[in-house]
Amino acid sequence: MKLMFYGAAREVTGSCHGVEVGGKRILVDCGLHQGSDNGFGQNFPFHPGDIDRVVVTHAHIDHSGRLPLLVKQGYKGNIYATEPTCRLLEIMLRDSAHIQELEAGWRSRKQRRAGDDAAQPLYTMADAEAVFPMLIPCKYDKVVNIGGGASIRFADAGHLLGSSYVEMWLSEGGVQKKVVFSGDIGAPDHPMIRDPSYIDKADYVVMESTYADRRRSPVFDTMTELSKIIELTLSKGGNVICPSFAIGRTQDLLYHIREIKERGLVKSVPDFPVYLDSPLALAATKIYSYELLDYLDDEAAALIRSGVQPLTFDGLRFVESAEDSKKLNDDRTPKVIISSSGMCDAGRIRHHLKHNLWRQECAVVFTGFQALGTLGRILVDGALSSVSLFGEDVAIRCRISNFRSMSSHADQNGLYDWIGAFDPKPNRVFVVHGEEDTCMTFALRLVELGHCAVAPKYTAIHDLLTDELVFEGRDLVRRSESEYVSRRDSAVYRRLMLAGTRLIEVIGRNHGGTNKDLAKFADQIDALASKWDR
Ligand SMILES: [Zn+2]
Repeated sequence: MKLMFYGAAREVTGSCHGVEVGGKRILVDCGLHQGSDNGFGQNFPFHPGDIDRVVVTHAHIDHSGRLPLLVKQGYKGNIYATEPTCRLLEIMLRDSAHIQELEAGWRSRKQRRAGDDAAQPLYTMADAEAVFPMLIPCKYDKVVNIGGGASIRFADAGHLLGSSYVEMWLSEGGVQKKVVFSGDIGAPDHPMIRDPSYIDKADYVVMESTYADRRRSPVFDTMTELSKIIELTLSKGGNVICPSFAIGRTQDLLYHIREIKERGLVKSVPDFPVYLDSPLALAATKIYSYELLDYLDDEAAALIRSGVQPLTFDGLRFVESAEDSKKLNDDRTPKVIISSSGMCDAGRIRHHLKHNLWRQECAVVFTGFQALGTLGRILVDGALSSVSLFGEDVAIRCRISNFRSMSSHADQNGLYDWIGAFDPKPNRVFVVHGEEDTCMTFALRLVELGHCAVAPKYTAIHDLLTDELVFEGRDLVRRSESEYVSRRDSAVYRRLMLAGTRLIEVIGRNHGGTNKDLAKFADQIDALASKWDR
């Protein structure tokens, strides 16, 4: 019975954890790496065909975005998630495939001009659509036996529509252990979403730490602050650009803007236009508004039942085609544009930034976490005076704000409350899904509070029966995806890296083997290494 750390280990994106029980292998989350990755690109440190079950905590792409790749590379089993997550995944993964195809097309044109072969997308639309028949929609709070000695139950994480913690009961050789995977832990009082729930029993907890180093300002009033920026910007003739994750943060923005309009908080242009420039966000907004009423919090459900549409208001316009999106930049009317991606690493938002970053009268409002290496992080950090967009140097002159309080992640206090609800304390807490320093510092803080806590390394393996670290894992190799892509031999080199990672995992799985076997294995590896050492 083992727990493996295949992603989001001392980093924020690429969530992916493995469980081995009774010879079966279960994956919890299968997220895409965003921004600067851990040096291994989007490769899996295992063979997807060897996985028997997948469980997904929520639809955000850093928890789900490699599902199409997993299926493309041979995964054939079921994928368990809550009913709203299954619905949101269908639009999320289609959008991700669309971006992969667009980027591969762009890279291909560039590589062909350099005399190289065409680039292949990480996965295609067909790969994304192959995931959907494998989805098994589950209810909150119902135990589901997923076979092979494992049962799961989803509890509401209050982070996104359908988001969950996964409680997992494992049984092997008459011994039972319970592992809780936090997914992303929500923040209270979030529009439309229920407050996060708490779990009180677990042997082991795998816990996120995105905002473990921050405390939300109790006095920050999102609606008032947002209305001030809109007023100031529009009255100067500028645009307010909101890079936003299509699912979750976009709906929060629409909710706040409806209230701003209803209360008349923007006096200079009360009927200001708001463009929702993301077909994905539009599809998600429809799901939030109509289809999954039972999953919303009481306030939002009551509003909708009374005939109020909380995400719709006068002046809201939807932009469907890429052509219409580009035309927005020719229109000089001051406006609010909400567009994705939220970290500005892809999508239509990059065009809007190109046309507005250099204009002093404009504003960019960030509402979510910006991972290291993304354009969003560069803008939020404010260290550069210009950025390159579509091959052009664009000066950064507009106002840039970061509304951390809108984050749907628990802050430090929220995380303490969540882990503090376990009684008795779990045997061990594995801190994941945070930047390296944040994970390690938070693990230390938990130790000070009397927990046994660690921040595991990438590919670390922990034996759940003996509560021992079987394999320490690997240090991150911070190299950007583009560095790999630019290598002529990248595809083959990646295969070699993958083979190396697999070998290390196999070593971990031989822990406890006979001395004779281990010696033979070591001899073979030594011989192989000597042969190839250059
Ligand atoms: Zn999330």
